[in-house]
Amino acid sequence: MKLWFLTGSQGLYGEDTLRQVAEQSRGIAEQLGRALPFEVVWQPVLTGADAIRRACLEANADDECGGLIAWMHTFSPAKMWIAGLDALRKPLLHLHTQANLELPWSSIDMDFMNLNQAAHGDREFGYIQSRLGVARKTVAGHVSDPSVAARIATWARAAAGRAEVASLRLARFGDNMRDVAVTEGDKVEAQLRFGVSVNTYGVNDLVAAVDAASDADVSALVKEYADLYRVAPELLAGGERHESLRYAARIELGLRSFLDDGGFKAFTTNFEDLGGLRQLPGLAVQRLMADGYGFGGEGDWKTSVLLRTLKVMSAGLPGGTSFMEDYTYNLTPGEELILGAHMLEVCPTIAADTPSCEIHPLGIGNREDPVRLVFDAVPGEAIVMGLADMGDRFRLVANEIDVVAPPQPLPKLPVARAVWRPRPDLRTSAESWITAGAPHHTVLSAAVGADELTDFAEMLGVELLVIDADTTSRQFAKELRWNQAYYRLAQGF
Ligand code: MN
Repeated sequence: MKLWFLTGSQGLYGEDTLRQVAEQSRGIAEQLGRALPFEVVWQPVLTGADAIRRACLEANADDECGGLIAWMHTFSPAKMWIAGLDALRKPLLHLHTQANLELPWSSIDMDFMNLNQAAHGDREFGYIQSRLGVARKTVAGHVSDPSVAARIATWARAAAGRAEVASLRLARFGDNMRDVAVTEGDKVEAQLRFGVSVNTYGVNDLVAAVDAASDADVSALVKEYADLYRVAPELLAGGERHESLRYAARIELGLRSFLDDGGFKAFTTNFEDLGGLRQLPGLAVQRLMADGYGFGGEGDWKTSVLLRTLKVMSAGLPGGTSFMEDYTYNLTPGEELILGAHMLEVCPTIAADTPSCEIHPLGIGNREDPVRLVFDAVPGEAIVMGLADMGDRFRLVANEIDVVAPPQPLPKLPVARAVWRPRPDLRTSAESWITAGAPHHTVLSAAVGADELTDFAEMLGVELLVIDADTTSRQFAKELRWNQAYYRLAQGF
């Protein structure tokens, strides 16, 4: 993904001033390029309506362009921007900055004043964006300020997620778990709103790919497992259950080839529809998540979309991102905690230590015992988020949390898990989450947080509710009520 840097000006300053505008804006774009995890492409200074409209149309048409950063170095009469902004379909960040840090108090003259007019030029630009209702983020400050670059980086990561979801293809193996409500949703609306295409494939097509994996590839992958994880002796070569590990490797090879052949970066499974699979996919799903694929259990395509999006947004950042489910609580007063896990499928990017690879019975799915990675999540700040279909719109809900080490070892729990303290406390968090109708399946991320999600939701026009240290149940209930009115009005009739 690349970001385009647009500079606004006008013709009446003369060539000399415009040359300085070009030089200085190019310098700022270069400085941003060094500070951001994405390439910044400087575009020639815009001085007229036709060039502005053309630049916006070209940005729309360029798949590489993930968003635009716009700055009005001088005054740029904003009627010139109407056609361009009206046509623009890419995320927009309005950078309110200027070339100089300090005012040259002793030498300032009218030439300097003419050249450095962002203080009012950007206000003119802000007006037209608000007048047109253009979704954007406004960032004010000098580009040398690390907090300015950090806020732009947050937006840029959200833009990368937005670009990913616009072209994402998701494969569902089987449909929704029977009778479950929150994992359902409008896939046509999702394709219109997000761009993602969600389609179902017969699970036995996957079985064919699993069966087609070569013995040599299975052997190589089993060796990789032994290098990466603490594999239970019964699963190792010579162990009495080694064949189960080989079959788990076979599932991974088949799943990976099916997804890669079809260009899918996200998928779902359903334990009610396993066809000829001999094990419920556990280890394979965990490892594919670690490689950046989106996943949701029980046909949950919305959580799978969210997970893939978050994987792309967080690329290169420390901290992992995983599929998660609120499972059970510790309700001891003053020590309230949530224990999160899933049947098998928690991503090892959030593991505190080297995962152990084990095999245990699983009543659900009616198949052979599945192989899985078992570990505790690494303590630290994180966020859990869920996506619900409210019928007339999608709703994102996020809760800031603190993952903690389990207060005691969990020697009999045969799945990977995370233990966390939700902010502001378990009662307020759970009441708010449930009042919002937010799902039990979530994405847990220690890499990105509420700021990236806020920018992402703004780009898509999707509702976002954040439960954090400042949340109160009363205020949250009001926010839900106001949002209900706002989103119905905002989408028109
Ligand atoms: Mn589940």
